[in-house]
Amino acid sequence: MPNRKDDFHKHGLKVTSPRLKILALFETHPKKHFTADEIFHELQTQGEEIGVATVYRVLTQFHEAGLLTRHQFETDRYTFELDTGEHHDHLVCVQCHRLIEFVDPLLEARQQSIAKQHQFHMTDHRLHIFGVCQPCFQKNNS
Ligand SMILES: [Zn+2]
Ligand SMILES: [Zn+2]
Repeated sequence: MPNRKDDFHKHGLKVTSPRLKILALFETHPKKHFTADEIFHELQTQGEEIGVATVYRVLTQFHEAGLLTRHQFETDRYTFELDTGEHHDHLVCVQCHRLIEFVDPLLEARQQSIAKQHQFHMTDHRLHIFGVCQPCFQKNNS
């Protein structure tokens, strides 16, 4: 794992307690993807007193510094995850907001070839597949 404290310095961010705690959450929590409110509640559960405004500010700073990637799965909020430099796409459950990550080499290649056909120089892409996850589907039909 890269040294995130060096990353802080590189981006002119001082090593502060809220910054370390928020970054640690992304690095250790199996959920990996969080909205600002989810971070705030998770920190509260851990007994941390970090205000919601601070959480928003730190997430914005981390995003600007390239430590976090930001997705907009819903119109009214962002979801953040660590920017590992490795690309993946997401299946998004519209009921429980569960996220499933996937990488499909054929799909990636297909997109490259579509861009090429249009003489378009692709720099990035985002693919979100929206729907209902299996546990929610079973709940709905039981
Ligand atoms: Zn679900
Ligand atoms: Zn992800």
